[in-house]
Formats: sequence, structure tokens, C-alpha cells
Amino acid sequence: MGNTIAIDYNRPRCLIISDDCKNAKLPNILKEMKDRNLDFQIIDYSNEMASETLEKRLSNQPLGCLLILLVNPELSRRIVHIAREIHFSINDIIVISDSGLSRHVFCGSCHFINENIQARRFNCKKCLNELEVSDHFSAYYQAVLGYPVIKQAGVEHE
Ligand SMILES: [Zn+2]
Repeated sequence: MGNTIAIDYNRPRCLIISDDCKNAKLPNILKEMKDRNLDFQIIDYSNEMASETLEKRLSNQPLGCLLILLVNPELSRRIVHIAREIHFSINDIIVISDSGLSRHVFCGSCHFINENIQARRFNCKKCLNELEVSDHFSAYYQAVLGYPVIKQAGVEHE
């Protein structure tokens, strides 16, 4: 385990877009969907697809559909942009990336993007709040969320 991604599967449908059907993470996700009897579709994006076609596929999805992207960062940004223009909210989109070790972490307090963070806890470079790195990946920021660590009572106030 260790590197599992928490996905909220409680959705009317899941739509997976992958540009590599041999992606090692795909079988686990598919198994999870089948085990849970979920209604899901896969779009194979290994061949270039016209934006209009993609737009149509996305707008045909029911409200609350979970969009899971296993694509390269550039394509991911493009798809997120299109999805956001339709009815998908930030919470409806999950981007699964391979960029393993270091991650970009956006500060839950000041929204600054701290680049290439490896630690589990660190201080935001901008607001200096201590952040705890979560597994929540934001497609919007292309970074994971860092939760400000709640300080103990009596330690410090603004
Ligand atoms: Zn900050």
C-alpha cells in the first residue's frame, strides 16, 4: 500500500480518460469500480481527439460524474480546462500522475504553490505556516493541498 489514492467513488458515474492503456495504475482503479458495481466509462486518449468530440463526451455525463485523468500533464491541463467549462467542479476531477517523489504543494492558507516538496510537513515559503501534505490533488492548481497545521491553544495568535 503506502501510495494509494483516496478516491470518493460514491458517484453516479466515473469517467476515466487515459492516454496509456498500459498505465500500471489503471487495473487497480478498474477493479475497484467493478467490485463496487459502479457505472464507469473509459475514454482511450492514446490517439489525438478533437476538442469538440471530447467536449461532447464530457457534456453527456450526468451531474456529479467523477472524472479521473491518467494522462500527461499537458493533456491533463487541457482536459481540466474543457471539463471546468462544462459542469465539472474541482471536486469532480482527479488527476493521477506518476510524478512520485516530489510534489507541488499549494498552501491551504495563502494558496502559494510550493514547488518540489518531498517532506510530509514543511513551512510554506510565502506565509510561513506549517503545512501537512495531503493526498488531495487539485487539478486546478496541478498540486496537492497542504493543510495548515492547527496550532495548540496558547501558542500563538495573530
Ligand atoms: Zn502559505
